[in-house]
Amino acid sequence: MAQIKILIEGYLSADSGGKTCPTITLVRDERLNIIIDPGTTPTAETIVEALAKEGLSPDDINIVFLTHSHYDHFKNISIFSKAKLLDYWGLWDNDKLESAPEDLTDDIKIIKTPGHSDDNITMLVKTEKGIVAICGDVYFKENFPEIDPYASDNAALFLSRELIKKSADFIIPGHGRMFAAKPQNCG
Ligand SMILES: [Zn+2]
Repeated sequence: MAQIKILIEGYLSADSGGKTCPTITLVRDERLNIIIDPGTTPTAETIVEALAKEGLSPDDINIVFLTHSHYDHFKNISIFSKAKLLDYWGLWDNDKLESAPEDLTDDIKIIKTPGHSDDNITMLVKTEKGIVAICGDVYFKENFPEIDPYASDNAALFLSRELIKKSADFIIPGHGRMFAAKPQNCG
């Protein structure tokens, strides 16, 4: 089974005096160490220090996974110079783009979840506690916002949210803590 660790719990500018940081997540499975949305952070050291607590350095990261290509989600990409980049268009190995498999490993699946942006993708991770969806700004934080003022397509966004809630037990949103996908998982 894959393992998930939230390295940095994100926040929104409206809650944080104008500062924005995405929720930055580490997923480990088989021989892969994956960082999801390396962010904007207070400094580049913030993410390096969080990784060190997990016994990893930036060079141990094999894949950087981008839920979507908004600046606040990718600013720190260059810290991970040895990693491939997985985004909507595929798996980038420096200047070479390969098509990405839908199943990255037996326990990690990638699905398309457009709406906040046309290029939004979600990682579904099978863990001991259930399936976790790491979805970027499909939700900014728990079931918020109801209507996304920045959405490229709100109708598509609602369908993506339905798909995620159907597919997962827990959701890691773009800028907040993990929450239960379905009410029966509460408490
Ligand atoms: Zn964001």
